[in-house]
Amino acid sequence: MAINGIQFQKGLSLPAFLRDYGTEEQCEALFIKARLPDGFICPCCGHGAAYEFKRRELRYWQCGACRHQTS
Ligand SMILES: [Zn+2]
Repeated sequence: MAINGIQFQKGLSLPAFLRDYGTEEQCEALFIKARLPDGFICPCCGHGAAYEFKRRELRYWQCGACRHQTS
């Protein structure tokens, strides 16, 4: 698992750490939440829903309305 800021927050006890970041899915969800705090908003048309894709290591979203892609 990659070293990043989320894993090394100070003041987090181990049980709390495991509860909040115990699975890769939870970690990923938190990362996405940090990246997109208001959920997806298309930079092109402002639409609020997108499809998520993964291409190799890259994750990106395609707008459900105009199909604009953003990573
Ligand atoms: Zn759009």
